[in-house]
Amino acid sequence: MDTLTTGDTEKLADALRGELITPADPRYDRARQVWNGDIDRRPPLIARCADATDVAAAVTFAAGRGMPVAVRGGGHSVAGQGLCDDGVVVDLSPMRAVDVDPARRLAHVQGGALWQDVDPATQAHGLATTGGIVSETGVGGLTLGGGIGHLMRRCGLATDNLVEADLVTADGRLVTVDAERDPELLWGLRGGGGNFGTVVRFGLRLHEVDPTVLAGMLIYPLDDAPAVLARYRDLIADAPDALGTILNLRLCPAVAAIPERLHGTPVVAIIVCWSGDHEQGQAFLRPLREFGRPVLDTVAPMPYVVLQRMLDDTSRAGDHYYWRSVDFGPLTDEIIAIIVEHVARITSPLSAVPVYHLGGAIGRVPPEDTAFGSRHATHDINMFGHWVPDRDDRDRHVAWVRDFSEAMAPHAVGKYVNFLNDEGADGVREAYGRRWQRLVALKRRLDPENVFRYNFNIDPGTG
Ligand code: FAD
Repeated sequence: MDTLTTGDTEKLADALRGELITPADPRYDRARQVWNGDIDRRPPLIARCADATDVAAAVTFAAGRGMPVAVRGGGHSVAGQGLCDDGVVVDLSPMRAVDVDPARRLAHVQGGALWQDVDPATQAHGLATTGGIVSETGVGGLTLGGGIGHLMRRCGLATDNLVEADLVTADGRLVTVDAERDPELLWGLRGGGGNFGTVVRFGLRLHEVDPTVLAGMLIYPLDDAPAVLARYRDLIADAPDALGTILNLRLCPAVAAIPERLHGTPVVAIIVCWSGDHEQGQAFLRPLREFGRPVLDTVAPMPYVVLQRMLDDTSRAGDHYYWRSVDFGPLTDEIIAIIVEHVARITSPLSAVPVYHLGGAIGRVPPEDTAFGSRHATHDINMFGHWVPDRDDRDRHVAWVRDFSEAMAPHAVGKYVNFLNDEGADGVREAYGRRWQRLVALKRRLDPENVFRYNFNIDPGTG
C-alpha cells in the first residue's frame, strides 16, 4: 500500500459529489460508528458516496494505491465489515432511493437503502419482497448474503428476488448484470456477499402482499417451552407457505409492545406472520393459540409495515453484540432440550435466541441456482449475545454464546453466511459448501487482488 499524501486525499475529495471524511474531521467519530458498538476501527478515509460515479472514484482510488475497500451498506454486520483500519470505506448511506415499477413488479433500490425505505414504498402498491425483520438493516448486506424474513417461505429469500444489479467492480467499471448479462456474476451475487463489487442499485422482484397481514406474538413461560415447542413442531410440519414463524427465547424485553408484568421473565415467544387469507390463517393458527397457557397473544390483523418495525426496539444501535448461528433440520426433542437448557442460563437480559423456520419457497429453488449455501435446512438458530458495556462483563456473554453454539454444533447441517461472525476462513467455506470452487473462480475473474475483502471473504488465492 502506498503512503497517502494530502494531495492524494484532496484529489479524491475533489472527485466526489459526496463527502470525504478523514480522522481530522469533527464528524469522523460519528462516521465510523456501526450498529455493533463492540467494533472500534479507524479507517483513514471514509467516502460518503452520493452516486455510482462517486463509488467508482473511491474504488479506483483505493485499488490504484493497493488499499482495500470496505463497503458500508446498512452497517449491520455484527463483525463490523462495513469498516476497516487500513483502507477506504465506501459508505453508501446517502444512497437510499427506492423506485417501484408496479407494472413490472420490480423495485430499483440504491445500494445503501434500509428495509425501512423499501417496505413502505412497495406496500403503497400492495407489493413486497422478502426483507429483514429489523427495519434498520441494510438491503445490501442482507440481500447479497441470502436474506431471511417473515415472507421467505412464500416469496423466497431476498437474494432469490435479486433479478438485476448495477455494480462497481474492483477495476472501477460500472456494470449491469441480470439473467442475460453475465448470469454467472448474478449467480455469485445471490449469496456470495460483497465479494464481487459494490452494488449501487438492486433490482428486486416484488410479490402481491396484502398490506394487512395476520401477525403478532404468542408468548409462553419458558417452563412450558418443551411442550409448546413440540406442539409448534407438529403444526409447522404442514404449514402453508403463507405462514412465517420465528421463535424467540429470552428474558422478556422491556418494550412498549409487552406488558410490564412480563418484563424480565424467561419466555418463549412465537412471532407469527400469516400473509394469506385471514380466515384460513385464523383456522390454521387456532390449535397453537388454544394450546397451553400463553401469557400474551397479540396475533391480529396488522399492517405489514408495522410488523416490519415491531422488533426494532430490541436491537439498539451502539449496544454491544456477539453472535453465532447454525442451520439445522427438524426441531427434535434433543435440540429443544439443548435450547431450553442454554436459555435458562442466559447471561444478559438483552440477549436472545431467535429460531427461524425456513423451508417453503426457499427449499424449492434448485440448490445450484444461487451461491446461497443452505437450502436444505429447516431451521436457523442465532445465539444473539447483547449487552451494555458499562454495566456488563463481555467475556461472560461471549462464553455463553460459544458454549451454546458448541452444544448445537453436532446438529448443524450448514451455516448461514450473514449470521457468521468470527468463525474464520473455515466457517466461510463451510457456509458455501460445494459452491466454493465456483465462487473462487468468479472472484479471480472479478477481483483477483481481493480489493473487496471486508466480507465473509472468498479469497482468490485459495484452492
Ligand atoms: P453492512 O455492515 O453495511 O455490510 C455487511 C456486508 O455486506 C459487508 O461485507 C459489506 O461490504 C457488504 N455490503 C453491504 N452493502 C453492500 C452493497 N451495496 N454492495 C456490496 N456489498 C455490500 N439477516 C437476515 O437474513 N434476516 C434478518 O431478518 C436479519 N435481521 C438482522 C437484524 C439485526 C439487528 C442485525 C444486526 C442483523 C440482521 N441480519 C439479518 C443479518 C444481516 O443480514 C447482516 O448483518 C447483513 O450483513 C447486514 O447488511 P448491512 O448492509 O446492514 O451491513
